[in-house]
Amino acid sequence: MIDRLTSVVIVGARGRMGQTLLRTVMESDTMTLVGAVDRTGGPGLGQDAGRLCGMPEVGVTVSDLMEPPRGAVVVDFSLPRATERNIQRCLELGAPLVLGTTGLSSEARTLLEEASKELPIVYAANFSVGISVMIRLSELAAKSLGPDWEAELFELHHRHKRDAPSGTALRIGKAVAAANGRRFDDVAVMSREKADHARTSGEIGLMSLRGGDSVGEHSLMFFGDGERIELTHRAMDRSIFARGALRAARWVAGRAPGLYDMVDVLDLGRL
Ligand code: NAD
Repeated sequence: MIDRLTSVVIVGARGRMGQTLLRTVMESDTMTLVGAVDRTGGPGLGQDAGRLCGMPEVGVTVSDLMEPPRGAVVVDFSLPRATERNIQRCLELGAPLVLGTTGLSSEARTLLEEASKELPIVYAANFSVGISVMIRLSELAAKSLGPDWEAELFELHHRHKRDAPSGTALRIGKAVAAANGRRFDDVAVMSREKADHARTSGEIGLMSLRGGDSVGEHSLMFFGDGERIELTHRAMDRSIFARGALRAARWVAGRAPGLYDMVDVLDLGRL
């Protein structure tokens, strides 16, 4: 049986992730590049997308207008200020969306929920297969250990990352809180700078480090009396996110409307 090629449009094409996505699509034999989009007035517009990412010419010109042809999936890794406009454009054109941009505003999140009633959308703060499994392991560990074990989370990213804590750290923290029936916002502690008291029962501490060129590191610790469990994921290379996002693009093409994440794409099951 001949498997159909999935057509993709990459948004944020000139960025670190955009270029990695472009290269990964061009090297794939299951995907075809049909569009590359970046911001109005930015460098790289009008250039061939292959040349932009250091590959041979591919015949797709980088544009500031998102025009996915019928059946194409939009893969957006740009910046939060662009997200609402991009979701609107997908709605206008009925294009399935794989969204990787992190640090979304609450308005963008609301629009995402609304749009998912009409479009199939995969949104993940981290598209790596390893992190997706770590999130599941975190849930299972939190549920098995119970709320008496104290959970603390640490994340480290390159110096250019704008949002903190990382979307992935928030996702892991939410999974840990939910596993014991708690609301993350009620138990998350992002800073202890001015706290003049000891750690309270049930809180989940999050700590962010920024520096160098680290692609991303997340470490979740569960402290019991006399023992400790650590779950750590280290991303060595951006291509892990690109491979996961493109796997999601193949999965989402032709799906029913809904807001999905990598747990659905990888069929990891839910608690
Ligand atoms: P970057 O700053 O290198 O690239 C962003 C690109 O988006 C730039 O080329 C910029 O010109 C472009 N852009 C800005 N406004 C735009 C618009 N209106 N339309 C189209 N393009 C526009 O950033 P990056 O490191 O590539 O990361 C991009 C996003 O992806 C960030 O939010 C980052 O946190 C996120 N990210 C997500 C994952 C994941 O797995 N979900 C992994 C890595 C990064």
